[in-house]
Amino acid sequence: MDNRLLEMLVCPLCKGPLEHVRTATSRELVCHADRLAFPVRDGIPVMLESEARSLESVDTVAAAPTSVG
Ligand SMILES: [Zn+2]
Repeated sequence: MDNRLLEMLVCPLCKGPLEHVRTATSRELVCHADRLAFPVRDGIPVMLESEARSLESVDTVAAAPTSVG
């Protein structure tokens, strides 16, 4: 898997950047804005909200200056 491909990916929900996180057994693409972690299965990112894992840990998220409205 070309890591550059993973780096190109953005969150399907907010189109924000994803953090590529490796664990001992798996890889995930984390969106801090949505607090979701998308699984990477066999090197293929699964960019589905229904497949994403909710992040329970509360970490400081820099609020992006988005204009809503
Ligand atoms: Zn997002």
